[in-house]
Amino acid sequence: MAGLFYQTIARLSADLAAKKLSAVELTQAVIARAKAVEPRIRAFNSFDESDALAQAAESDARRAAGRSRGSLEGIPIGLKDVIAVQNQPLTASSRMLANFVSPYDATVTTRLKAAGAILFGRLNCDEFAMGSSTENSAFHPTANPWDVTRVPGGSSGGSAAALAAGEAIATLGSDTGGSIRQPAAFCGVVGLKPTYGLVSRYGLIAFASSLDQIGPFARTVGDAAVLLGAIAGHDERDSTSYRVEIPDYAAALEGRRGPWKLGIPKEYFGAGLDPEIGAAVERAIDFYRGLGCEVREVSLPHTQYCLDTYYIIATAEASSNLARYDGIRYGHRASGAKDVVDLYFQSRAEGFGAEVKRRIILGTYVLSSGYYDAYYLRAQKVRTLIRRDFLAAYQQVDALITPTSPIPAFKLGEKSDPLAMYLCDVYTIGVNLAGLPGISVPCGFTAAGLPIGLQLIGQPFQEAQLLAIAHAYEREHEWSQRHPALASSG
Ligand code: GLN
Repeated sequence: MAGLFYQTIARLSADLAAKKLSAVELTQAVIARAKAVEPRIRAFNSFDESDALAQAAESDARRAAGRSRGSLEGIPIGLKDVIAVQNQPLTASSRMLANFVSPYDATVTTRLKAAGAILFGRLNCDEFAMGSSTENSAFHPTANPWDVTRVPGGSSGGSAAALAAGEAIATLGSDTGGSIRQPAAFCGVVGLKPTYGLVSRYGLIAFASSLDQIGPFARTVGDAAVLLGAIAGHDERDSTSYRVEIPDYAAALEGRRGPWKLGIPKEYFGAGLDPEIGAAVERAIDFYRGLGCEVREVSLPHTQYCLDTYYIIATAEASSNLARYDGIRYGHRASGAKDVVDLYFQSRAEGFGAEVKRRIILGTYVLSSGYYDAYYLRAQKVRTLIRRDFLAAYQQVDALITPTSPIPAFKLGEKSDPLAMYLCDVYTIGVNLAGLPGISVPCGFTAAGLPIGLQLIGQPFQEAQLLAIAHAYEREHEWSQRHPALASSG
């Protein structure tokens, strides 16, 4: 049997409830695992071992007293280092916030605590979540557990790699253009980006506020459902959070088994798609046909504009959101500035990395008077057309099937050209522009042993159905039970 650190939440919760296992034992196993593999993986920016063990002891005490909190009681969960945890470092993997400690909890953090979770460690990511490989972290890159010479994807690479390497039982990330789904695909785990507005962004370091969503990474669709249930729901502290009934997502998995109507967007299977990934996704589509699902080709005609639209809107919003890092209120402050303007310049020049600066410059440009109409306003109009494409497709089908990424995990250092890096997101960013839910589920391996992800895209706020469709595939395939070879040596 695989180590404790490779078990699902479902299994561990049953063992904790039956007192076959204590939260302290489980947390010790995860910490020991993290210590064994971290020199090779480097998924964490930091972790506080004694704090995690203290939380675990409290969980055991609650359970012994019959006061267990909820669906995640005693489960060690790691958070991407853009999600605030009171009194813990919060760096966004940036020099700008290298010494920042959060004074408060994000809403998702409060909810995980209320569900009994043990919050363990700050997970590495691309600086301010800008990137697709985690190489833009100001601190260090993270390695892919399936091949440590390759990237784990990004920007939530630490969240995906830690889970795949057994350094957490589940994790949270954030997804602005694919940052949960793409690293999930690269690392062979499940990653869910919820509908915009389903999960509160309060306490998430803002990148592009109209696109950002927090979501779970998990070993199985069932575990992702449990996590989503714990973190979803209206929050008066986030004005874009939606008032919507939260169903029991985990229970919904065992409900209706379809058959569903599934759409294959033809624009997502064109040039640039790795043939092994295309073949694996075709096999998954055949599986759904075999379940009795009606599968039909659909068209999302504005897909070709997704990348351009995204890199205008996301950079515009980033340039505005990142204006707050001025070296005065918090974050890095340059020494020796001659006046206040110089202080702004120097603090930002020293605090931000190259990709963040590139985006601030681009975003400031597209918002500037004279160019606003030509770029930003036009991008907003195209965004509406992109969303309409999806909504029109949903007149015919329940969900869409695509590859998550056109390519498998690439080598560390391989993509030095920013445009080559941006192309990694072609299949994921439409979902953010349209505000839809999307999930990446493992659907096989390349001949070289690299994981492949299948993306399922659902209708707004129909996560229960989306998870059920994903679960129908997962229950008949054993991909999630495979672990990187690292497992045996750790
Ligand atoms: N890779 C995309 C970018 O660099 C998406 C990042 C994200 O989803 N946070 O912007």
